Amino acid sequence: MDMVRLAIIVPCYNEEEVLPETARRLLALLSDLQKNGAISADSALYFVNDGSRDRTWQCVEELAAANPQVHGIKLSRNCGHQNALLAGLFAAPCDVAISIDADLQDDPEAMRGMLAAHRGGADVVYGVRRRRTADTFFKRFTAEGYYWLLARLGVEIVFNHADYRLLSRRAIDALAQYRERNMFLRGVIPKLGFDSAVVHYERSARLAGESKYPLQKMIAFALEGVTSFSVAPLRAIMWFGLCVSILSFAGGIWALWERLVNNVGVPGWASTLVPMFFLGGIHLLSLGVIGEYVAKIYIESKARPRYIIDREV
Ligand code: UDP
Ligand code: MG
Repeated sequence: MDMVRLAIIVPCYNEEEVLPETARRLLALLSDLQKNGAISADSALYFVNDGSRDRTWQCVEELAAANPQVHGIKLSRNCGHQNALLAGLFAAPCDVAISIDADLQDDPEAMRGMLAAHRGGADVVYGVRRRRTADTFFKRFTAEGYYWLLARLGVEIVFNHADYRLLSRRAIDALAQYRERNMFLRGVIPKLGFDSAVVHYERSARLAGESKYPLQKMIAFALEGVTSFSVAPLRAIMWFGLCVSILSFAGGIWALWERLVNNVGVPGWASTLVPMFFLGGIHLLSLGVIGEYVAKIYIESKARPRYIIDREV
């Protein structure tokens, strides 16, 4: 069997602190895999600079100048983690690509298992975190709660798998046919079909620097995942609206009955105000949810490019 040409895709946003160490470790792994005959000699690292504001790109240029196995792709601005991944996947010449975060929180050694699973016939291999002891309680709680919610909403997703995965050339080409602007890779990849496998690993702490996913970005990303893959919230609104309508109708009948048959007046204004506020709240909430989807249609209909490549080394 021919040896596969591997591309390791590393999205980088303000990662100057970790980059030299990350490159050193990944290059060591690469040469070891080459020695074992697991991958071909022209396998390489691809650092995608996602509009960093620090010295990340200079760092990538230096690494690329010093080592022929290091390549850099510079996006014209910050396009987001998912788009940086896509840029790398579509630009790197390879038979197999593995994407991994720059901070090496995900154990690179798991790549051996991924390549073995690929040789065994899998086109997609998911890296799955075995434990999250290195994450803060907050991160663990929100992340695991989120996976649970997505599963509940009917989004097909691999539990505790982030963006550490192997994709074959076939899988990358299939992925290229998904034209949506708001690409939520964790939801799209399972939709590709193909044979897949799972490789478990331990997740450790960041090598250096701080998380590039502050709470605000995490919430935006979480909403993205839900609204890109599930219309359950829209449907929930419909059911909720239906229930409220039925209750209001029943309440109206009851009020008429009291007035006309039992001849009881309604003295309070509470019975008027409470439903008014309540329904007002429901309306605003519902409009918000619908607005979220309308915004999505708006963005998709513009069909703007997901990323623009400025330079490559
Ligand atoms: N990242 C990126 N663009 C962004 C934010 C993050 O390319 O706008 C990259 C970042 O450099 C890292 C990966 O995405 O390689 C994951 O980010 P991070 O490790 O900070 O996330 P966490 O592990 O805290 O969820
Ligand atoms: Mg990280």
